[in-house]
Amino acid sequence: MGLDELAKLSEGFAGEVVRPADPAYDAARAVWNSMIDRRPGLIVRPTSADDVVAALRFARAQELVVAVRCGGHSIPGFSTCDGGIVIDLSLMRGVEVDPERCIARVRGGSLLAELDDAAQAHRLVCPVGVVSHTGVAGLTLGGGMGRLQRKLGLTIDSLLAVDLVTADGQVVRASEDENPELFWGMRGAGANFGIVTSFEFRLHPFEGLVTHGTVTHPIERAEQLAERYRELVEEGPDELWTSFGLAVGGDARGPVASVSVLHSGSPAEAERHLAGLRALGDQLEDSIEPKAYLASQRLFDAPMEWGQRFAMKSSFLASLPEPLVREWADQISRVPKGAEGGFSVWAWGRAIASVPEQDTAFTGRDAAFWAGAEIVWNDSGLDDACRDWARAGIATAAPHASLGRYVNDVTEVGSDVARMIYGDAKYGRLVALKREWDPENVFRLNQNITP
Ligand SMILES: Cc1cc2nc3c(=O)[nH]c(=O)nc-3n(C[C@H](O)[C@H](O)[C@H](O)COP(=O)(O)OP(=O)(O)OC[C@H]3O[C@@H](n4cnc5c(N)ncnc54)[C@H](O)[C@@H]3O)c2cc1C
Repeated sequence: MGLDELAKLSEGFAGEVVRPADPAYDAARAVWNSMIDRRPGLIVRPTSADDVVAALRFARAQELVVAVRCGGHSIPGFSTCDGGIVIDLSLMRGVEVDPERCIARVRGGSLLAELDDAAQAHRLVCPVGVVSHTGVAGLTLGGGMGRLQRKLGLTIDSLLAVDLVTADGQVVRASEDENPELFWGMRGAGANFGIVTSFEFRLHPFEGLVTHGTVTHPIERAEQLAERYRELVEEGPDELWTSFGLAVGGDARGPVASVSVLHSGSPAEAERHLAGLRALGDQLEDSIEPKAYLASQRLFDAPMEWGQRFAMKSSFLASLPEPLVREWADQISRVPKGAEGGFSVWAWGRAIASVPEQDTAFTGRDAAFWAGAEIVWNDSGLDDACRDWARAGIATAAPHASLGRYVNDVTEVGSDVARMIYGDAKYGRLVALKREWDPENVFRLNQNITP
C-alpha cells in the first residue's frame, strides 16, 4: 500500500496504523490460535466510532478485505486476513456501570475480564464465558455460553442494545425498539452486519462466593460418573452449572473422567446439592470449594493462554446416552501423543430454553446438552492428526445431535455452513437482513450469510 493511499486514511483517523515493515507488525498480526498465520496488508487500531467509520470508508475505497478484531479468539481465525485490513478494536476498551439501573455500557474492543470486574465492583454480573481474555464482541455476537447460563441465560439474553458502524459507514443503534429486526440478527449472527462500537447489557445482582471445582475419576468410571451427572442435571437447581468431561494429556495424568460444577447459590445449598456427586468415593481429586466469582472466571486464563495450537468441533445433543460415553472413553485413547485432548458436555436448558427459539438468530436453545471435542498442542507436526481427532470425536455424536450449531465453535468454512448453523427458516430471514445492511458482503470474515 503506497503512502498516498495511507495519507487518505490519516484524514479523520486518530488511531494507530501498523504496516508490514513496522517492528510491531508480527505481534500485531498474531491471533489467539497459533494455527492461524496470516499477513494482513494493514492493521489499524481505531480509538472511537468516528475512527471506525474512517477506517471502513478507507478499506472500501481501496477494495480491501475487512477483518474485524476484538479479543482475537476466533478459532478459525476470522479476525485476521491475508493482504487486507484488520480493524483491531483493542484501543477501544472500557466498561461503565450504572449501578442504579443495573446497566453496563461496554466498548467494542473490551475483554470479558473488564466486564466481569466492572460489574462485580457493584455486586452485579453479566453472564459471559469462562476464559477472561476472550473478547466481549465475538462471544456476544455469537451467543455467549458460560457458567451462569442455566440461571441467567446466554450472554445475548442480557443484551439490551448495540451501537454499530454499518457497511455504508452509518452509525446505527439496534435494540428491541430501534431496528428490532437487526437486533434479532445481532444476537447470534452479529459479526455479519457491522462493527459494534458499544454494547449495552442488563446486569444482575450477584454477590457472595460461588462453589466451584471438579471431581475427577479414572476413565474406567466414565459411565458411572455420567449417570450421576445426568441425575445432577435433572435434579439440580438453576444455580448449578455442570460439565461432564473425558480428557487426557496436559498435566501428564492418564485418561480421566470428571464432573465440573459451579453452584451460584449459598455454600450450604451447594453442599447439599453436590453431596451425591462427591459421595461416589475413590476419586482421584475433588477440587470443589467456595471461592470468589472473579477467581473462578480467571482459573483457566493461564492454561488457555495465547500461542497454542487449537482445534475443536462441537454439537448440540438431545441426550447423552451410555453408548456415546463409551465410544468417547475409547476415543480418548487415540488423542495423539504430545497433545492434550478431551470431550466436554455442558448442561443446557432452563434459562436458555425459557427464551423462545425464534426470538433470536441464535439456534439451539432446545438442546439438552452442548458437547465439544477440543484439542491443544504445540508441535506443528501434529496438526493433521489433532484436527482429525477432533473431527472423528464429534462425528460419533451425530446420531444424538439436535438442531443448530454454536456459531462461535464452528471451524468449517463454506457456502452451506451458515445454513447448517441457523437452520433453513432462520437462514432465509438472515439473508434478507444481510441484503438490507450489507448487500456487498463487506463483513464476510465470519460464518457468512451470503447476501
Ligand atoms: C480460550 C477460549 C475460550 C472460550 N470460551 C468460551 C466460552 O466460555 N463461552 C463461549 O460462548 N465461547 C467461548 N469461546 C469461543 C468464543 O466465544 C469465540 O471464539 C469468539 O468469537 C471470540 O471472540 P473475540 O472477540 O475474542 O474474537 P475475535 O477473533 O476478535 O472475533 C470473532 C468474530 O467476531 C467478529 N468481531 C469481533 N469484534 C467485533 C465487533 N466489535 N463488531 C462486530 N464483529 C466483531 C470478528 O470479525 C470475528 O468474526 C472461547 C474461545 C477461546 C479461544
